[in-house]
Amino acid sequence: MSEDQNHDLFEEDEAPQRKSMWIMELGEVFGIPVRLHLSIFLLFGYVLFASSSRMPDSSGRVALMLLAIFVAVFLHELGHSFAARAFRIQVKDITIWALGGIARMERVVRPPHQHIIVSLAGPAVNITLAMLLGTYIVVVSPDMAPHTSFQQLVFELAQMNLILGLFNLIPALPMDGGRVLKSLLSMTSLRDRSSKVAARIGQGFAIAMGILGLITGYFWLLILAPFFFLSAEREWQVDNILSRFAGTKAWQAMLKPVATAGRMTSIGSLVKYASGNKQQDFPIMEGESVVGVVTRWSLMDAMEHGHQDDPVFTIMDHEVHTLSPFDSLDKLLQTSLPIDRLVLPVVHKMRVVGLVTPDQLQEIRGS
Ligand SMILES: [Zn+2]
Repeated sequence: MSEDQNHDLFEEDEAPQRKSMWIMELGEVFGIPVRLHLSIFLLFGYVLFASSSRMPDSSGRVALMLLAIFVAVFLHELGHSFAARAFRIQVKDITIWALGGIARMERVVRPPHQHIIVSLAGPAVNITLAMLLGTYIVVVSPDMAPHTSFQQLVFELAQMNLILGLFNLIPALPMDGGRVLKSLLSMTSLRDRSSKVAARIGQGFAIAMGILGLITGYFWLLILAPFFFLSAEREWQVDNILSRFAGTKAWQAMLKPVATAGRMTSIGSLVKYASGNKQQDFPIMEGESVVGVVTRWSLMDAMEHGHQDDPVFTIMDHEVHTLSPFDSLDKLLQTSLPIDRLVLPVVHKMRVVGLVTPDQLQEIRGS
């Protein structure tokens, strides 16, 4: 029911988004890989079991409705995805799971007006569907009462899409409406605290949902309340980290001075240097230009395998991302490498003036 942005740099173990035995690849739609989280089948099983014990002959109908809900959720995510694409943000994949859908973007939707449009696009799909289906009902049955079982089905689909659309517009994180609220707040004097305020409102809503669940005994509210509470907290924390990165320039974070090495330098001599210095990772030079980086991990690995006399070019990483001293570090959030693998030479006027390594990034990220 809610989309998620590209935060996987920090969310390495986020279950519904990871490739795992729980994920089933369904294929591509408009070039976007669509995946099913198998938690859905647990939900299907439970709902079918619960409904068949109450209304024994309703299984077929309940299964059809469940399927329709997940199609509606998928179309909702597709709405977010198309809006994101309109702003040239690629969508990595769409995952449907038991509590909704997630469209993962290759980068964060930054300007507030874009974020608002991308967030509204999902609910807009459901509300549009509800209106189209509603129009059909009005046309075939002007008294608004469904007369055939097909009309009944169309009526229920319209209702379900309307509920899905409106529910997602509730202005509480992690719902789409909460994201809209956050973006609106970010345009006011509350700018620096917009995420926190939106998250706290979301958590207040989650608590209210939980209490309502306890009073009414309505099972779904009790399942969703803790999920919403934690999701709101997580969104705020991720935004907090993002803003710390966005507020830091490479020159403020980099390690300096920095030792560089030639391609033929031996692995052993770099390890020896690293053991007596703060610097653990090295840019590798050929003449004036950076041709690779050697990380602490590859140095350790090479030593363990007895390659101390080999030249460093044999273990260097050829794919180098360099930064200018004035680059904002949130640029790094667009790379797909995890934070503990990022080693970035900072280059100014053709010279390596510093190095951003996992140590600096962890420091900014904070605890
Ligand atoms: Zn959504």
